[in-house]
Amino acid sequence: MSILKVARIAHPVLRSPAKSVPKAAFKDPLFQKLVDDMRETMYEYEGVGLAAPQIHEGLRLAVIEVAGDDERSKAEVPFMVLVNPVITPLGEEKANGWEGCLSIPDLRGVVPRFKRLKLEALDRDGKPYSLEAQDFFARVIQHECDHLDGFVYLDRMQGMRSLTFIKEFEDHVHKDEE
Ligand SMILES: [Zn+2]
Repeated sequence: MSILKVARIAHPVLRSPAKSVPKAAFKDPLFQKLVDDMRETMYEYEGVGLAAPQIHEGLRLAVIEVAGDDERSKAEVPFMVLVNPVITPLGEEKANGWEGCLSIPDLRGVVPRFKRLKLEALDRDGKPYSLEAQDFFARVIQHECDHLDGFVYLDRMQGMRSLTFIKEFEDHVHKDEE
Protein backbone atom coordinates (compact mmCIF):
# COMPACT_ATOMS: atom_id res chain seq x y z
CA MET A 1 0.00 0.00 0.00
CA SER A 2 1.09 3.55 -0.55
CA ILE A 3 0.48 6.95 0.94
CA LEU A 4 -0.95 9.16 -1.80
CA LYS A 5 -0.20 12.82 -2.38
CA VAL A 6 -3.07 15.01 -1.20
CA ALA A 7 -4.28 17.79 -3.52
CA ARG A 8 -4.57 21.18 -1.87
CA ILE A 9 -7.15 23.84 -2.54
CA ALA A 10 -6.70 25.65 -5.87
CA HIS A 11 -5.72 22.42 -7.63
CA PRO A 12 -8.36 22.14 -10.39
CA VAL A 13 -9.16 18.50 -9.49
CA LEU A 14 -10.78 19.76 -6.26
CA ARG A 15 -13.06 22.10 -8.19
CA SER A 16 -14.21 19.73 -10.94
CA PRO A 17 -17.23 17.42 -10.67
CA ALA A 18 -15.96 13.83 -10.42
CA LYS A 19 -16.99 11.06 -12.85
CA SER A 20 -19.06 8.03 -11.85
CA VAL A 21 -17.10 4.85 -11.18
CA PRO A 22 -17.89 2.46 -14.07
CA LYS A 23 -19.09 -1.10 -13.36
CA ALA A 24 -15.93 -2.58 -14.88
CA ALA A 25 -13.78 -0.90 -12.22
CA PHE A 26 -14.78 -3.19 -9.35
CA LYS A 27 -12.90 -6.17 -10.79
CA ASP A 28 -9.86 -4.07 -11.63
CA PRO A 29 -7.02 -4.68 -9.15
CA LEU A 30 -5.91 -1.08 -9.70
CA PHE A 31 -9.27 0.19 -8.43
CA GLN A 32 -9.05 -2.06 -5.36
CA LYS A 33 -5.50 -0.83 -4.74
CA LEU A 34 -6.74 2.76 -5.02
CA VAL A 35 -9.31 2.08 -2.28
CA ASP A 36 -6.62 0.53 -0.05
CA ASP A 37 -4.23 3.41 -0.70
CA MET A 38 -6.96 5.95 0.12
CA ARG A 39 -7.58 4.12 3.40
CA GLU A 40 -3.86 4.21 4.20
CA THR A 41 -3.62 7.90 3.25
CA MET A 42 -6.62 8.77 5.45
CA TYR A 43 -4.92 7.02 8.42
CA GLU A 44 -1.57 8.67 7.72
CA TYR A 45 -3.05 12.18 7.89
CA GLU A 46 -5.53 11.31 10.64
CA GLY A 47 -8.59 12.21 8.60
CA VAL A 48 -12.08 10.82 9.19
CA GLY A 49 -12.75 10.77 5.47
CA LEU A 50 -11.04 11.15 2.12
CA ALA A 51 -12.55 11.68 -1.32
CA ALA A 52 -10.86 10.57 -4.54
CA PRO A 53 -10.46 14.10 -5.97
CA GLN A 54 -8.31 14.85 -2.91
CA ILE A 55 -5.73 12.37 -4.19
CA HIS A 56 -5.98 13.63 -7.78
CA GLU A 57 -8.51 11.03 -9.00
CA GLY A 58 -11.66 12.55 -10.48
CA LEU A 59 -13.88 9.64 -9.42
CA ARG A 60 -17.06 9.48 -7.35
CA LEU A 61 -15.36 7.53 -4.60
CA ALA A 62 -14.72 8.29 -0.92
CA VAL A 63 -13.68 6.47 2.24
CA ILE A 64 -14.82 7.21 5.79
CA GLU A 65 -13.82 5.91 9.21
CA VAL A 66 -14.46 7.51 12.59
CA ALA A 67 -12.71 6.08 15.64
CA GLY A 68 -14.78 5.42 18.75
CA ASP A 69 -12.70 7.88 20.79
CA ASP A 70 -13.08 10.76 18.32
CA GLU A 71 -14.17 13.71 20.45
CA ARG A 72 -16.48 15.09 17.76
CA SER A 73 -18.43 11.90 17.30
CA LYS A 74 -21.03 10.22 19.42
CA ALA A 75 -20.63 6.93 17.61
CA GLU A 76 -17.89 4.95 15.94
CA VAL A 77 -18.12 4.53 12.18
CA PRO A 78 -16.28 1.44 10.91
CA PHE A 79 -14.28 1.76 7.68
CA MET A 80 -16.63 2.21 4.75
CA VAL A 81 -16.32 2.87 1.03
CA LEU A 82 -18.74 5.13 -0.82
CA VAL A 83 -18.90 4.63 -4.58
CA ASN A 84 -21.24 6.83 -6.67
CA PRO A 85 -23.00 8.01 -3.48
CA VAL A 86 -26.35 9.81 -3.47
CA ILE A 87 -27.51 11.65 -0.36
CA THR A 88 -31.04 12.69 0.50
CA PRO A 89 -31.56 14.96 3.53
CA LEU A 90 -34.11 13.63 6.04
CA GLY A 91 -35.89 16.73 7.22
CA GLU A 92 -34.85 20.35 6.98
CA GLU A 93 -32.98 20.53 10.26
CA LYS A 94 -29.36 21.69 10.11
CA ALA A 95 -26.70 21.86 12.80
CA ASN A 96 -23.48 23.86 13.06
CA GLY A 97 -20.22 22.03 13.67
CA TRP A 98 -16.48 22.38 13.19
CA GLU A 99 -14.86 20.97 10.08
CA GLY A 100 -11.37 20.72 8.71
CA CYS A 101 -10.06 19.26 5.47
CA LEU A 102 -6.81 17.56 4.45
CA SER A 103 -6.88 19.70 1.29
CA ILE A 104 -7.05 22.92 3.33
CA PRO A 105 -4.39 22.17 5.95
CA ASP A 106 -4.27 23.68 9.43
CA LEU A 107 -7.66 25.40 9.30
CA ARG A 108 -11.06 24.80 10.83
CA GLY A 109 -14.40 26.50 10.45
CA VAL A 110 -18.03 26.21 11.50
CA VAL A 111 -20.26 24.70 8.81
CA PRO A 112 -24.04 24.16 8.83
CA ARG A 113 -25.02 20.67 7.63
CA PHE A 114 -28.18 18.61 7.51
CA LYS A 115 -28.56 16.72 10.76
CA ARG A 116 -29.97 13.55 9.22
CA LEU A 117 -29.70 12.00 5.79
CA LYS A 118 -30.11 8.87 3.77
CA LEU A 119 -27.06 7.58 1.92
CA GLU A 120 -27.30 5.29 -1.09
CA ALA A 121 -24.03 4.05 -2.56
CA LEU A 122 -22.10 1.04 -3.83
CA ASP A 123 -19.43 -0.68 -1.76
CA ARG A 124 -15.95 -1.51 -3.07
CA ASP A 125 -17.32 -4.64 -4.79
CA GLY A 126 -20.11 -2.76 -6.54
CA LYS A 127 -22.82 -3.99 -4.16
CA PRO A 128 -25.52 -1.38 -3.44
CA TYR A 129 -26.26 -0.39 0.14
CA SER A 130 -28.21 2.32 1.88
CA LEU A 131 -28.16 3.68 5.41
CA GLU A 132 -29.39 6.53 7.53
CA ALA A 133 -26.86 8.76 9.25
CA GLN A 134 -27.09 11.59 11.73
CA ASP A 135 -24.96 14.17 13.53
CA PHE A 136 -21.19 13.87 12.99
CA PHE A 137 -21.51 10.82 10.71
CA ALA A 138 -23.99 12.71 8.50
CA ARG A 139 -21.61 15.71 8.54
CA VAL A 140 -18.66 13.62 7.31
CA ILE A 141 -20.78 12.10 4.53
CA GLN A 142 -21.89 15.56 3.37
CA HIS A 143 -18.31 16.87 3.50
CA GLU A 144 -16.95 13.96 1.42
CA CYS A 145 -19.81 13.99 -1.10
CA ASP A 146 -19.28 17.73 -1.59
CA HIS A 147 -15.74 16.94 -2.78
CA LEU A 148 -17.24 14.82 -5.57
CA ASP A 149 -19.09 17.88 -6.87
CA GLY A 150 -16.13 20.25 -6.61
CA PHE A 151 -17.12 21.89 -3.32
CA VAL A 152 -15.11 22.35 -0.13
CA TYR A 153 -16.37 23.21 3.33
CA LEU A 154 -15.39 26.87 2.97
CA ASP A 155 -18.12 27.18 0.31
CA ARG A 156 -20.69 26.00 2.85
CA MET A 157 -19.73 28.33 5.71
CA GLN A 158 -22.19 31.11 6.47
CA GLY A 159 -19.30 33.54 6.87
CA MET A 160 -15.58 33.46 7.50
CA ARG A 161 -15.59 34.79 11.07
CA SER A 162 -15.23 31.33 12.64
CA LEU A 163 -12.26 30.38 10.44
CA THR A 164 -9.33 29.47 12.69
CA PHE A 165 -5.96 27.79 12.60
CA ILE A 166 -5.91 24.49 14.49
CA LYS A 167 -3.35 25.79 17.01
CA GLU A 168 -5.47 28.84 17.81
CA PHE A 169 -8.54 26.57 17.91
CA GLU A 170 -6.85 24.51 20.64
CA ASP A 171 -5.62 27.64 22.47
CA HIS A 172 -8.77 29.73 22.36
CA VAL A 173 -11.88 28.19 20.84
CA HIS A 174 -11.69 24.69 22.24
CA LYS A 175 -11.19 26.03 25.78
CA ASP A 176 -14.23 28.29 25.48
CA GLU A 177 -16.37 25.30 24.63
CA GLU A 178 -15.37 23.26 27.66
ZN1 LIG B 1 -12.25 17.61 2.77
